[in-house]
Amino acid sequence: MKKTRYIFVTGGVASSLGKGVSIASIGALLEARGFKVTIQKLDPYINVDPGTMSPFQHGEVYVTEDGAETDLDLGYYERYTGAQLSRANSVTTGQIYFSVIERERRGDYLGRTVQVIPHITNEIKNRILLLTKNKNNIDFVLVEIGGTVGDIESVPFLEAIRQFRLDCGVENTLFIHLTLVPTITVAGEVKTKPTQHSVKELLKQGIQPDILVCRASKKLDEDLKKKISLFCNIPSHRVISAPDIEDTIYEIPLIYHEESLDNEIIKYFNMQEISPVFENMKNPLLEKWERIVDVFKKPEKSVKIAVVGKYMSLNDAYRSLFEALSHGGFPSKIKVELVKVNSEELNAQNIKEIFKEIDGVLIPGGFGERGIEGKLEAVKYARENKLPFFGICLGLHCAVIEFARNVLNYKDANTTEIDPDTKYPVISLMEEQSDITDKGGTMRLGAFPCQFKKGSLLEQIYGKSSVNERHRHRYEFTNKFRNDFIKHGLVLSGLSPDGNLVETIELDKKLHPFFVAVQYHPEFKSKPLDPHPMFIEFIEKSLIK
Ligand code: GLN
Repeated sequence: MKKTRYIFVTGGVASSLGKGVSIASIGALLEARGFKVTIQKLDPYINVDPGTMSPFQHGEVYVTEDGAETDLDLGYYERYTGAQLSRANSVTTGQIYFSVIERERRGDYLGRTVQVIPHITNEIKNRILLLTKNKNNIDFVLVEIGGTVGDIESVPFLEAIRQFRLDCGVENTLFIHLTLVPTITVAGEVKTKPTQHSVKELLKQGIQPDILVCRASKKLDEDLKKKISLFCNIPSHRVISAPDIEDTIYEIPLIYHEESLDNEIIKYFNMQEISPVFENMKNPLLEKWERIVDVFKKPEKSVKIAVVGKYMSLNDAYRSLFEALSHGGFPSKIKVELVKVNSEELNAQNIKEIFKEIDGVLIPGGFGERGIEGKLEAVKYARENKLPFFGICLGLHCAVIEFARNVLNYKDANTTEIDPDTKYPVISLMEEQSDITDKGGTMRLGAFPCQFKKGSLLEQIYGKSSVNERHRHRYEFTNKFRNDFIKHGLVLSGLSPDGNLVETIELDKKLHPFFVAVQYHPEFKSKPLDPHPMFIEFIEKSLIK
């Protein structure tokens, strides 16, 4: 049985330092050394999952293969590593209390007072251990503690990981603290005090970090590292600098490697014999990351893709999608320029001007009525002007509604999500959804199979006749309209294996070079080292539009 080591990453000074990308990059580096990793997020909020939160509150909801609605950091973990994540990888305070209270009601704690220590902290520790239950091939479990040290909500999690070290041993647990080392611009001075305070805050919880990763605008010089080392009680070679990156977050594994973070981790756990420590290790996996960074630094071509949605001011609302679009350009070294179009501001009058230089149009998933008419204009423009079009989830709904209104002449065709009384409900609530009243975790969620029509564009793109892709929706193509669409040239190219659900649609290749929409979210499965075929095809078709 393999010995599993645990790496805990906490954040200090400020939020939004990129803890998720950092831990994912550490995962990538450990994989590059031949280890198997998994990554878990412990989120301090009380919602059971982020599924019911607005993108303004929380950014994108990332869906795992087994249908958990999770934090967008899990997207980074899957993109940067080969770890296949599940429900168990995403834990919230809500879930922890839910199980403890359920157990209390059942009578499992009869006679006792239920308390944060030990009942809540035990539940947290169990969730961490659960990740490797029945799996003996994991070398490293990486755990991200959400929030910032000093938050009231994080305290039980910090206490739990403090105890975890006691249970598992110092030699098997490593604490990494990610902090900010700001520069006061007027004085031009780099300040270490916030980091010192943040480490003190952690010490109050009984945790002495073993490695510090310091976010700063520039690389920290040796003197600064020595100062931080002295005040924070950490050897200076374990003070890692994480400067702002210029081109792409895919550079972070390489920067951490340059700073010897992977070597420090290996040395901490005394694993040099299994994975030798080299100063300038050339590693085939790291070379792949280098090639990706090259696409951003020295692109050979570029395309402009309009993404038409209603949360465009908020990058994190479409995090996986934006990443997947950039992956689509990697094989042919194409830089993908995103033109974020707010659908509420798009109309028949201004679309020509706004889309003047656009090479391809994408409509992402979404909910509710706001901005729908702008999205329908975008579909119409792409369909009529033969611009490559890619619709995802609500984007498929829009493509179907537009086709119904403008090709089939079903004037007020709509989805019942927006107009329950429409004469032509071409998209409607799925049958299995009709009795559901609870909002949390009740959509059609997770991976489901889809079978492609022989000779379809989708079959050609994937190079196979069936795929498993992840879903998150309640509404679907309405089957009684199938023939009306088919007669007018819309190909229902992908169906669920029982034939009941329309999963993908496309326009015949003779009518349009690339007009494709899918009910599922392919963006969740695209990785920089393994870009999704649909995004590759979309970007390459946009290049030659
Ligand atoms: N609002 C639509 C539905 O629930 C689409 C969801 C989505 O785009 N993820 O079916």
